[in-house]
Amino acid sequence: MTVMPMLVGGEWREALSGRVEEITSPFDGAVVATVPRAGVDDAGAAVTAAEVGAVIWRRTPAHERMRILLRAAQLIEDRAEPIAQTITAENGKTIREARVEAGRSGELVRLAAFEGAHLYGQTLPLDAAPGTGFDKIGFTVRQPCGIVLAITPFNYPALLALHKVAPALAAGNSVVLKPAESTPLAALAVAACFVDAGLPAGVLSVVTGHGDEIGDVLVADRRIRKISFTGSTEVGERISRHAGVKKLSLELGASCPVVILPDADLEQAASAVAAGGYANAGQVCTSVQRVVSHPAVLGDFLDALVPKVEAIQTGDPALPDTAMGTLISTAEAKRVQHAIAEAVAGGARVLTGGERDGSILAPAVVVGVDPASPFSQNELFGPAVAVSAAIDWESAIAQVNGTRYGLSAGIFTTDVVGAVRAIREVDAGSIHINWTPLWRADLMPYGGLKGSGIGKEGPRWAVAEMTEEKTVVLHGRPWAAEPAEGEQR
Ligand code: NAD
Repeated sequence: MTVMPMLVGGEWREALSGRVEEITSPFDGAVVATVPRAGVDDAGAAVTAAEVGAVIWRRTPAHERMRILLRAAQLIEDRAEPIAQTITAENGKTIREARVEAGRSGELVRLAAFEGAHLYGQTLPLDAAPGTGFDKIGFTVRQPCGIVLAITPFNYPALLALHKVAPALAAGNSVVLKPAESTPLAALAVAACFVDAGLPAGVLSVVTGHGDEIGDVLVADRRIRKISFTGSTEVGERISRHAGVKKLSLELGASCPVVILPDADLEQAASAVAAGGYANAGQVCTSVQRVVSHPAVLGDFLDALVPKVEAIQTGDPALPDTAMGTLISTAEAKRVQHAIAEAVAGGARVLTGGERDGSILAPAVVVGVDPASPFSQNELFGPAVAVSAAIDWESAIAQVNGTRYGLSAGIFTTDVVGAVRAIREVDAGSIHINWTPLWRADLMPYGGLKGSGIGKEGPRWAVAEMTEEKTVVLHGRPWAAEPAEGEQR
């Protein structure tokens, strides 16, 4: 069995307590590897190492940081296949999906490396302030925050770790990464690429442990200046209560909608929903959870959608033909199955799917869902799409904006009028016209409104949030044709 140590202060080591955690496959329960189960003492040691790392790294010029990051990007690409295998083994997503995730990872590091070399400031037109002349010059400089705490979820264990680690390092911060307890192996695998690329000791640590054991102590640590968290809204709220005076980026939960207007291309909409509702077994923050359709096209839309959903082949995620793998655990599959049953008890109807086999849940389409029900309102994070009708734009927008979340949304229409109105009125961090909310280019700004979070990821935005701006004013003296009384010139 593989024993994977964690990374603290440049050393690959066990937990100080010696405790270990088995990482098991959600598909068959096989033990994939063991990792240390870090305690609060390990968490503290990682932050202490990061204090040293932060000093070394902020004194490392941007061109040198970029060189190391570009080397790490190349190593991630060289190791993409083993990283993909690791993702599938620990997470249960299909090998096809894992290869896409691993395949995007190197390029993401490259993008971040580039942004870290562009820490521009601004000159300030101080003479525009009444009473100020040309004797002063003002400008801003950016500097790294110091120590960044990155806390990541299970669903994209490599990519979402890199969306934090790469911009943080590119901007000159040291990082303590706490990956999800169920999927630490991919995070350790990508961290090894930075170490092998020559990152100095202490600049990156990866602490493998449980959020409810080491989360609070890390979050409250005053030596940390910036927390970048991706995960559930509940944990995000807890972090914001415990963090104290720190910069916070929170990428949280969602219940993402799609609107089908009467003039939509229904075939395109059905294909897109069949992809965007079930990728990663619905465990994507931007998964299509709700479809709000005009009643005139609802029947035709469902006729197009259901066969496509039924064609999604579930099974062993390691097999190349499997299109949908497992949920992260059997308990999660049971939770989603239960949520579907509750929706049915509330008057909804299952058109297809919903049967469970261990941690695999057949992809489901559920119609007639009450928009006010928990099935619509709470994040589902599973392979089911809730469909409801809205007779006009006003009732559609009320449904779309009628949850606590606001991460991403999709609108299908062939009319620019509907598109413009949606862009203006939908409260979501991303809006996709003629696609579903589940679409991301790693370079774009990405982050939610309302309960879906605070701040943006995407290398350019993450680098901005992981640096601090200082205002500098050079105070000269007013100069005049004649020296002032008593002044030597
Ligand atoms: P989670 O909130 O259970 O866990 C996320 C991370 O937080 C894990 O590393 C966990 O160990 C840690 N954690 C738990 N308790 C903590 C505490 N008290 N202090 C500090 N850290 C703690 O989320 P999950 O189940 O791993 O992931 C699914 C969630 O992530 C969903 O809600 C999903 O929408 C969200 N997500 C959001 C985005 C986005 O970009 N908005 C992207 C992916 C996932």
